[in-house]
Amino acid sequence: MNQSLPKLNPAITAIPADKILSFQASIQGVDDLVFLTFGEPGFDTPKEVKEATVKGIQENHSHYGNSQGNPELRQAVLDYMEDRYDLRGFAIDQVVMTAGVTEAIYAVFKVLLSAGDGILVPDPAFGSYFSSIALAGGQAISVDTSKSGFKLTPAMVKEAIESADVPVKAVLFNYPSNPTGVTYDEAELKALAEAFKEAGVWVISDEIYSELTYGRVHRSIASYLPDQAIVVNGLSKSHAMTGYRVGFVLAPTAVAKQIQKVHGNLVYSIPTFVYDGALAALRMPKAALQPMIDTYQERRDMAVAVLKELGFDLLSPDGAFYIFAKLPKDIEEDGWTFAEKLAKEGKVGVIPGEAFSQFDGAKDYVRLSYAGETAQLEEGLKRLKAYIEKRRAN
Ligand code: PLP
Repeated sequence: MNQSLPKLNPAITAIPADKILSFQASIQGVDDLVFLTFGEPGFDTPKEVKEATVKGIQENHSHYGNSQGNPELRQAVLDYMEDRYDLRGFAIDQVVMTAGVTEAIYAVFKVLLSAGDGILVPDPAFGSYFSSIALAGGQAISVDTSKSGFKLTPAMVKEAIESADVPVKAVLFNYPSNPTGVTYDEAELKALAEAFKEAGVWVISDEIYSELTYGRVHRSIASYLPDQAIVVNGLSKSHAMTGYRVGFVLAPTAVAKQIQKVHGNLVYSIPTFVYDGALAALRMPKAALQPMIDTYQERRDMAVAVLKELGFDLLSPDGAFYIFAKLPKDIEEDGWTFAEKLAKEGKVGVIPGEAFSQFDGAKDYVRLSYAGETAQLEEGLKRLKAYIEKRRAN
């Protein structure tokens, strides 16, 4: 770099690299690796979505669009949320279409946080929350959920807010959860909603895995907190559309206005032909996605059975496509070392638990993804079993 140029912003330079990405990069060069690392659906994007997107391109939907998302699309978001989760009472000016949930979350942080403000994060959590909060100038306050089945409880909310030494603006809530797959039932959500109300903090609810629940009904926390919840969701996982970059936010009107201000300046709008694909996706009936959801459930059952048989300690996930598993007792090393050796010697990629956590306990865990293709999962599990059995035999 040219030494005479001004220094880069030190606040950004100081943000540590994403641990998930750096671990993935460290094993990328291993030959013949089966990746059980990514949250990348092993399905093609539905045909109707692809066709609508191509048609949009052919019809020259290639100009600047409505920055917030065209009204028809925002109405489709509301219809979708009502159809799937019985969420009612929102208007289209409360919806902002974003470049994935990633942008939505950052925009929400920018709207809520002044320098140094705190956000409660039930931990373990999606790793990029921590860097995104730091990028927006805030401070993540991790709440350890490892002793409550990886669930946040009303008592934990109260305790964390009372003991925080910075102003707490919001709770960042994600269910079904990455990395644990844990989700909440109606009674738990109602109790948490009461606690959030009492605490008087915003609730940012990342519900990106809401379609992917197994034998469970998903309810949005916004049903109980319409004036306090900021819901983020998107099509990446549910519709195998990670590369399309479609997310959306539902928020109280005054908040949505501010989010739109940030979004308008960050990306202006997602590609206008992608609006066409997103509209087709949102209009797909639940039944059309069911075979994909059933396949994830079968994969979950297969992976849980093998991991349990090998002595991993885990909760069978109720949603998303991850398993957060504690290493068997006889593996006396941390998750990072285990994951590195497993990649290099056993040829299977998993992510060390500490990439999702600011607590020491996560060092004993790894996260395995069953999002990819079934054959790949079968091969990965076969190799994992062979690797552990070989270690035990020596
Ligand atoms: N939120 C959670 C909890 C995730 O696990 C992920 C991706 O893994 C994202 C958000 C990113 O979603 P998007 O592709 O919509 O940016």
